[in-house]
Amino acid sequence: MNHPAELAAIELSPEALAERQREVVQALMAVLPAHCLLYREEDTTPYECDGLAAYRRLPLAVTLPETEAQVQRIVQICRRLGVPIVPRGAGTGLSGGAMPIKNGIVLSLARFKKIVEVDSYARTAIVQPGVRNLAISEAAAPYGLYYAPDPSSQIACTIGGNVAENSGGVHCLKYGLTVHNVLRVRAVTMEGDIVEFGSLAPDSPGLDLLAVMIGSEGMFAIVTEVTVKLIPKPQTAQVVMASFDDVVKGGDAVAGIIASGIIPAGLEMMDKPATRAVEEFVGAGYDLDAAAILLCESDGTPEEVAEEIVRMTAVLREHGATRIQISRSEAERLKFWSGRKNAFPAAGRISPDYYCMDGTVPRRSIGPLLARIEEMERKYRLRCMNVFHAGDGNMHPLILFNGNDLDEWHRAEAFGSDILETCVELGGTVTGEHGVGIEKINSMCVQFSPEERDAFFAVKHAFDPLGLLNPDKGIPTRSRCAEYGKMHVRGGLLPHAELPRF
Ligand SMILES: Cc1cc2nc3c(=O)[nH]c(=O)nc-3n(C[C@H](O)[C@H](O)[C@H](O)COP(=O)(O)OP(=O)(O)OC[C@H]3O[C@@H](n4cnc5c(N)ncnc54)[C@H](O)[C@@H]3O)c2cc1C
Repeated sequence: MNHPAELAAIELSPEALAERQREVVQALMAVLPAHCLLYREEDTTPYECDGLAAYRRLPLAVTLPETEAQVQRIVQICRRLGVPIVPRGAGTGLSGGAMPIKNGIVLSLARFKKIVEVDSYARTAIVQPGVRNLAISEAAAPYGLYYAPDPSSQIACTIGGNVAENSGGVHCLKYGLTVHNVLRVRAVTMEGDIVEFGSLAPDSPGLDLLAVMIGSEGMFAIVTEVTVKLIPKPQTAQVVMASFDDVVKGGDAVAGIIASGIIPAGLEMMDKPATRAVEEFVGAGYDLDAAAILLCESDGTPEEVAEEIVRMTAVLREHGATRIQISRSEAERLKFWSGRKNAFPAAGRISPDYYCMDGTVPRRSIGPLLARIEEMERKYRLRCMNVFHAGDGNMHPLILFNGNDLDEWHRAEAFGSDILETCVELGGTVTGEHGVGIEKINSMCVQFSPEERDAFFAVKHAFDPLGLLNPDKGIPTRSRCAEYGKMHVRGGLLPHAELPRF
């Protein structure tokens, strides 16, 4: 008899697949109300991909449970039948984490959208995983509180997805990532058990399994409730916008600000192609002559902000800023940020497709990486816009390409891998905040040794011994890495470009 994970991976004939789907749907029907189960192609198609739309696969079925008990029943059926499960929040992920697995189902947490409690005294909120990130701050606003991690997708993405990806955002430089702002996670394991990680106390005894869960990309357990920290809204905030005639100088200014002991509330950088694209789109008032601009936010009491702005401005001037503008009102502050927040849609306006990379480098390597990316633009004959969380060294090069042109797609993929592997070479990592998913799985072979990857698998195995929870994502197998070694881009050339890649 096949191991369930092997059964899941078998390539089925269309007839066998239809039969398998009937079997799985029938079993799920027995434990779920009809409105909690989708299986017709027209209903499951919206779930075939996440924000990384280049990779798609139809699931056998989509379950939309409403209670934790229903989640447990779905898990029990999938265990019995050997069906892989992909948990899903809002599907805004950019690394294919919520893309369905072969012969598997999607378990959407979209109906878990209750804010269970806002405790203004303890400054915490208990929320279900399908609650949108921004909805938490909206619920806390009457108490003068908010939830700090603010991914640009915060209007749509869910806290369950944020926990799974350890999401970050503009303000995470000062206030920390998801992992620093979550106290407790409740989840259902593939065994069907309910487990709690962390506690309401600032720390909990034993191994820090909460930190292991956060960023586990839906591979360890299905999150059903999250307790987050809330913090007081700063009294005021101002932004300094600084122009540079050279991207390397801009990168060095970022390192200079942190070295001077300032931790800005946000420290973002955009290069000229990015400012041009957003200026045409939203008119944020950016300096179009600059090779790069930096947005540096200060928040706190009016006195703290005034003092920090003076110090930041001095450091920026020392590092060669050619122009400095300071927001004079809340409306102007939001206008400066509007360009940064609309950078991704702006890329969509000037190119049929864009591929958003997510590598991280030490701050001192930002300048050298940008210079290398410029060289790569010539090598791969594709344009790239850079817009990123400079303070965290978390780069988001947006490679512009036309997905209808197969050759351009291959070049974009090779360009992306080259950027990530350059990040590793410069002392960084292949991912910052978007996760590995399916997108960066090959680059993991470059960053980690076989022994390190075996250790990752051992942790996965401890949570999910049958390998049914979002398998084939996040951690590459030894055979995948061996294959990748053969397919690896060298000198800008992809060996065997004619062969289909995952
Ligand atoms: C325009 C745009 C801007 C973005 N900006 C940022 C940014 O600034 N910072 C940032 O970090 N990310 C950003 N992202 C990426 C994305 O929004 C985040 O990764 C987000 O956390 C995904 O949340 P989601 O609810 O959409 O999760 P999904 O995409 O549905 O899922 C993401 C992963 O989480 C798992 N998952 C989801 N829910 C659960 C659960 N309840 N239990 C267990 N696993 C679960 C899935 O299996 C998958 O692996 C951006 C995306 C877009 C489209």
